[in-house]
Amino acid sequence: MLDKVVIANRGEIALRILRACHALGIRTVAVHSTVDRNLKHVAMADESVCIGPAPSNRSYLDMPAIIAAAEVTDAQAIHPGYGFLSENADFAERVEQSGFVFIGPKAETIRLMGDKVEAIRAMKEAGVPCVPGSDGPLGDDVATNNRLANDIGYPVIVKAAGGGGGRGMRVVHTEAALANAIATTKQEAKAAFGNDMVYMEKFLENPRHVEIQVLADGQGNAIHLGERDCSMQRRHQKVVEEAPAPGITPEQREEIGRVCVEACLRIGYRGAGTFEFLYENGRFYFIEMNTRIQVEHPVTEMVTGIDLIREQLRIASGQKLSIRQEDVVLRGHAIECRINAEDPETFLPSPGLIQHFHAPGGPGVRVDSHIYEGYTVPPNYDSMIGKLIVHGADREQAIARMRVALSEMVIDGIRTNIPLHQRIMADGGFQAGGQNIHYLEKRLAERKERPLGIG
Ligand code: ADP
Repeated sequence: MLDKVVIANRGEIALRILRACHALGIRTVAVHSTVDRNLKHVAMADESVCIGPAPSNRSYLDMPAIIAAAEVTDAQAIHPGYGFLSENADFAERVEQSGFVFIGPKAETIRLMGDKVEAIRAMKEAGVPCVPGSDGPLGDDVATNNRLANDIGYPVIVKAAGGGGGRGMRVVHTEAALANAIATTKQEAKAAFGNDMVYMEKFLENPRHVEIQVLADGQGNAIHLGERDCSMQRRHQKVVEEAPAPGITPEQREEIGRVCVEACLRIGYRGAGTFEFLYENGRFYFIEMNTRIQVEHPVTEMVTGIDLIREQLRIASGQKLSIRQEDVVLRGHAIECRINAEDPETFLPSPGLIQHFHAPGGPGVRVDSHIYEGYTVPPNYDSMIGKLIVHGADREQAIARMRVALSEMVIDGIRTNIPLHQRIMADGGFQAGGQNIHYLEKRLAERKERPLGIG
């Protein structure tokens, strides 16, 4: 087992990684920016190193500073968490070249999955169902592109190969708009991602977002841990996630799960990973693979009883998977609400001092958060300040528990999206389950017109 790990992240995920390390007897090194000295995990870590000022590009994205922190503390490995450098192949490479273990897949796997055109090509070859689309990047020939779009059928979506975070895509409804949309997306992609390669897919109009969690040891063993439904989104950002996905049958789960496991074995995948799919009319369409732990991993942990960060640490220590596919049994239902420091109506960030904090509790209630009374949420980073996760025997009980937990949770001094989550949990459509990725935004738009709102 590894004996000392640098946690190259902040906030709730840094605390989550620290807890998993300590439970395995692994010592921890927190690296933090100057505004993050008071983070909970910094106080709890065995050692801490300040790696730079508040702006991420001078701290949490500063590769030499993080690697230097591993050197001076004599650590063995670096856990990147999610966001920041977690899907940066160059970072993974530099970590390994410096003699440390990168807790994640091989750099070449991250690089492959970071190029969506190459990722889709590899997945198609591995037998993973993909969205009908261009076989590779689009060229400049207008007639060829028009023909391609006609074959796929409008509407189509033009996407940047290097895109991420919901940016770098454009929906096109008619041939008249196609050439211009391709040119504009290329320009934007070049500016934002330094790569003007774009591709085309059928635009699915009412899909759900359903993703499969996998674990692989890079030594010939891989398993899947079922699916999560992350269709409750605003601006392509997940707001509420749950496991299992409403209406997915055990047979469907088994089939898509097996496809993902086979793909992992084929590409020599190592670590925890997620295959993201759009799901429409009973079919799965691969959109991308995330080669890291995800924000919403706890819902999978709650229904499987498997500690995903612990498994990441074991795999990074060179151990073989100890869980067999038949050991993975889904129990009950779990829901996660992302708690953001933001205005629940305008969605503007609301950083500042937390004057009072009261965490909910009770059976099946889990709070993954770094906040405490007297903690100041800095304005410099993502507005997510924690996650409230509940587990119940079934979906109905999980929703009921979430409603109670939300009503108990007190965060005073800043605004949070707790009221939004309360409205979602009280919403008939959400309660029915299986809504598509546009549902939340539609309901929010209706609410603007009819102030009575969601419910
Ligand atoms: P990113 O890496 O930026 O998150 P994705 O490829 O995962 O990009 O797409 C993000 C979101 O964009 C999806 O969750 C979905 O809402 C929408 N989207 C992407 N591709 C399609 C498609 N072919 N049809 C419909 N919606 C799509």
